Amino acid sequence: MASVYLGLGSNLENPFFQLQSAVAQIEALPDTTLVGCSQFYGSKPLGPNDQPDFINAVCHVETQLSPQALLSALQKIEIEQGRIKKRHWGERLIDLDILLYADEIIRTADLTIPHAEIALRDFVLIPLAEISPGQTIPGLGCVETLISNLETSYLKPLD
Ligand code: AMP
Repeated sequence: MASVYLGLGSNLENPFFQLQSAVAQIEALPDTTLVGCSQFYGSKPLGPNDQPDFINAVCHVETQLSPQALLSALQKIEIEQGRIKKRHWGERLIDLDILLYADEIIRTADLTIPHAEIALRDFVLIPLAEISPGQTIPGLGCVETLISNLETSYLKPLD
């Protein structure tokens, strides 16, 4: 079993519901157990700012799926949930990323783990620290140190 952290984000068509649906789909993945999920957080969009705010969360799963099989399974959830990608860094119905896969560093054509932007994103690091305090990000250091290096944070836990 590999300990894996997944990033979830949505800013369209009731993002709260979109995240809840995605968590349920992740829980139903074969050979995978949902260990925990962070609170849901509101965040300002990266890139174009003429779009709704995002809701983000991080889930912890234990899985026997390989990184590639997990990526395919997450992409299937994105498609089934009706992901529309309108523009780069633009609106998302649901976006699912593999943030960490055990302590592996993976660089292939379609998979970068730890996720390429992990060190720059408060909406990933803060929920990750909530559910896994002291987490090491392979090659980058401790999650709390990375948070302290962020310049600003617009993140707000939702009630
Ligand atoms: P995005 O549009 O930002 O969701 O990016 C999707 C693309 O990112 C897909 O083609 C994936 O193959 C690629 N990708 C690279 N690394 C990852 C990762 N760690 N998790 C999810 N997708 C990834």
